[in-house]
Amino acid sequence: MSERIPGRNLIAGRWLDAPDDFASTSPHSREDVVGTFPRSDPGAALDAVAAARAACPAWKRTSRVLRAELFDNLAQIVKRETDNLAKLMARECGKVISECRAEVIEGLHMIQYVFGTGRMPSGAIVDSEIAEKDAFVRRKPWGVVSVITPWNFPFAVPLWMLGPSLVEGNVAVFKPSEDTPAIGQRLVELFVEAGFPAGVINLVHGDAVAGEALVRNPDVNVVLFTGSYQVGSHIQKVSAEFYDRIVAAEMGSKSAVIVCKDARMDLAVNAALISGFKTSGQRCVSAGRILVHESLIDRFSQELAAQVKRLRIGNPLDAHHFTGPVINKDAVEKVERYNALAREEGARVLLEGGRMTDADHAKGTYLSPFLYRIEHKPGVRVVREEVFGPHLAVVPFKDNEDAARIYNDTQFGLSMAVITEDYRAMRFFREECEFGMGYVNLPCIGAEVHLPFGGVKKSGNGHPSAAGLVEAVTHKIAWTVNHGTEIKMAQGLTTDVEGGPA
Ligand code: NAD
Repeated sequence: MSERIPGRNLIAGRWLDAPDDFASTSPHSREDVVGTFPRSDPGAALDAVAAARAACPAWKRTSRVLRAELFDNLAQIVKRETDNLAKLMARECGKVISECRAEVIEGLHMIQYVFGTGRMPSGAIVDSEIAEKDAFVRRKPWGVVSVITPWNFPFAVPLWMLGPSLVEGNVAVFKPSEDTPAIGQRLVELFVEAGFPAGVINLVHGDAVAGEALVRNPDVNVVLFTGSYQVGSHIQKVSAEFYDRIVAAEMGSKSAVIVCKDARMDLAVNAALISGFKTSGQRCVSAGRILVHESLIDRFSQELAAQVKRLRIGNPLDAHHFTGPVINKDAVEKVERYNALAREEGARVLLEGGRMTDADHAKGTYLSPFLYRIEHKPGVRVVREEVFGPHLAVVPFKDNEDAARIYNDTQFGLSMAVITEDYRAMRFFREECEFGMGYVNLPCIGAEVHLPFGGVKKSGNGHPSAAGLVEAVTHKIAWTVNHGTEIKMAQGLTTDVEGGPA
């Protein structure tokens, strides 16, 4: 059995010995304990916020260029550690090793991006209507940022938040998911090795109790959250009590691929397969629905089912596997409930999915893909609610208007892909569908750190992650300097204290 990691919180630069409150076990084999971690109480969260607050003035006064240089150190360390990080991630969250490697690279890109911004302009010089005045727009950090993250991107998502926050002069308290504490802790160890000063980044392990304490702390200026709509909307409600609180919330989805009448079948099947079943359907952007023009649906369903049947599902550390287990027992049960609901709601099952209990899978939380055809009708829940697992609906549509109507008929709006050769159809779907990330002749998954990553409706509140997050973690100030020898005001406002001529 591999190394067992001792979990500790990091507060004010000190790694604190902690009780072994909970074990992080591998979804591939529950007998493999990755580490044991403290279930932090509100007191630990309080201490971490106080430590961050204390580190704030010195960090804010550090040159932005020098803050960014530390990310260059971090980039070198992440490059050195790429394979180890990918293996730890595969072991702890069950994503296959190639995906874990890609995620480490994505995290590295975020680090490189923020390093690059250190010497780039971060504000603007604008003209005043008074010739003698120089006017500037500058950004200021908010202060203390709480970073609360999900299990499914345990390395890149924290970096999407920590990168822009820290380079802009904020300080952070990071609470990783209780399903992936080891990879969260490893990331913070690398920040420390890179030379980030004590208190600039603090780590608090735990579950909703620690998360809630961070959200309810009035000394937290910004909450950066990625996770489910249930938790994200709760955080937004609690935060509404604080007059100066910013919340960026990235949440769930019911993403879709739209296969138009003129679609190339090979592209459509491949895009559907990857969108629906990569990461066992546990990406925020995973497709829960493939909308297919009615003229293609029989052939498409047959070809997709044939491809899905061939998928290799197993040990995430084995490079031959397409996908691994789902994260935990709760996820298994949730998917099973939705598989049953699909049948109740009129699904025609194309591939029967369920628990995999043979010798290679019995120790883990493995599910085989569930694929079905269903009509989009009022009240049908399986085509509207997020399942977050290997559960995929194929839904017929009549024409492009019908497809856009069906696509929008869910409370989520994260990502969509359209498979078509028709440039007018591409534009139609771009304008008519509600989403944050759109793709043409691609799967509806995939991110690059310099593009906005976020959604609308119940998927996000308009603060995209990664590079775009700079808008949430800073506020803009106007700074105007008069180089003249007298005061002149814009809009012709008089400065004459005696009043104008009678
Ligand atoms: P989750 O909402 O259960 O947990 C996310 C984080 O919130 C965890 O760290 C958890 O401990 C914490 N938390 C739980 N209750 C809390 C509370 N009351 N106060 C503060 N923090 C609390 O989500 P998950 O199961 O880890 O991740 C899956 C979800 O994340 C899916 O819905 C998926 O779509 C979404 N997700 C969205 C994006 C995106 O960019 N939109 C990216 C990845 C995942």
